[in-house]
Amino acid sequence: MSKKQDTQQSEKRKVYLIKRHLMGKSYMAICLFGFIFSVRPLNPVEYNHERIHAAQQKELLYLPFFFWYGVEWLFFYLKYWDAEKAYHHIRFEKEAYNHQSDLQYLQKRKHYHYV
Ligand SMILES: [Zn+2]
Repeated sequence: MSKKQDTQQSEKRKVYLIKRHLMGKSYMAICLFGFIFSVRPLNPVEYNHERIHAAQQKELLYLPFFFWYGVEWLFFYLKYWDAEKAYHHIRFEKEAYNHQSDLQYLQKRKHYHYV
């Protein structure tokens, strides 16, 4: 096993599986304070998505991330009256969705890319 594969393997172990009822019904996985919780094992793209959030949270020192995330969601929700649409407009989600398929993204990502 290469060093890189080894790293990916051990990172996979950082996903904590939780029960469905602990999540909102429209969510499958969530990243909180660098820990990833999911109702089922994540595929590499989904895992990358949550890891992008982990990087965003870390560079905003966690609590400001959730505040900013919440404010943006509310702003877009009041604009569109559509929770799903508001969610996809949040800058953190845009960055995560735009780059989740690029599994090398976190190695080359610039800090505060979503600004
Ligand atoms: Zn996301």
